[in-house]
Amino acid sequence: MPLDTERGYNVTLPSGSLGLTRPVLFEGHGFVISPLDTGDRVGGAVEFAGLKAAPNYARVDALIARARRFLPEGRFEGGTRWMGFRPSIPDSLPVIGPSRRSPRVLHAFGHGHYGLTQAAITADIVTAQVMGLPTPLSPAPFSAQRF
Ligand SMILES: Cc1cc2nc3c(=O)[nH]c(=O)nc-3n(C[C@H](O)[C@H](O)[C@H](O)COP(=O)(O)OP(=O)(O)OC[C@H]3O[C@@H](n4cnc5c(N)ncnc54)[C@H](O)[C@@H]3O)c2cc1C
Repeated sequence: MPLDTERGYNVTLPSGSLGLTRPVLFEGHGFVISPLDTGDRVGGAVEFAGLKAAPNYARVDALIARARRFLPEGRFEGGTRWMGFRPSIPDSLPVIGPSRRSPRVLHAFGHGHYGLTQAAITADIVTAQVMGLPTPLSPAPFSAQRF
């Protein structure tokens, strides 16, 4: 499978640091800010560096520098930095469905930037496939056999 990782970064600042009341997507600037229960999270970036390379936290500094331009009153100290591995497929669609080798092996991976968003519907599709029931939507675009 043509699976690779788009590594991403975020920093979680103390709650209230940025004064936002809802998630804000900074279209064209490659980041989003989400006020979460755990703090104000500035996240984004796409880095192709595989699974072994150490995190490059200069990427977090770059996210903060961009966020500062939009939120000059914001407090950007005291954050917890994080790097994660988005599981990505070249056509940006996940792989959901039976393996070509065995109908008893079901794939459900490669959700890239939308794994949290697509988790529930992926579960519904997989459940239907396990139970031999009609799926809530056509799984054809997500077939492992498209590669
Ligand atoms: C910075 C960043 C921001 C993101 N923002 C969003 C967003 O706003 N909205 C959204 O929908 N998605 C977002 N995503 C994407 C989302 O996080 C991923 O698409 C999602 O986590 C993929 O889910 P997964 O279960 O396929 O893989 P993962 O979440 O990577 O889970 C894989 C699990 O398998 C376990 N594992 C690995 N090897 C083994 C093994 N040998 N045996 C047993 N267990 C193993 C790992 O420990 C891990 O728990 C973001 C990702 C990043 C990095």
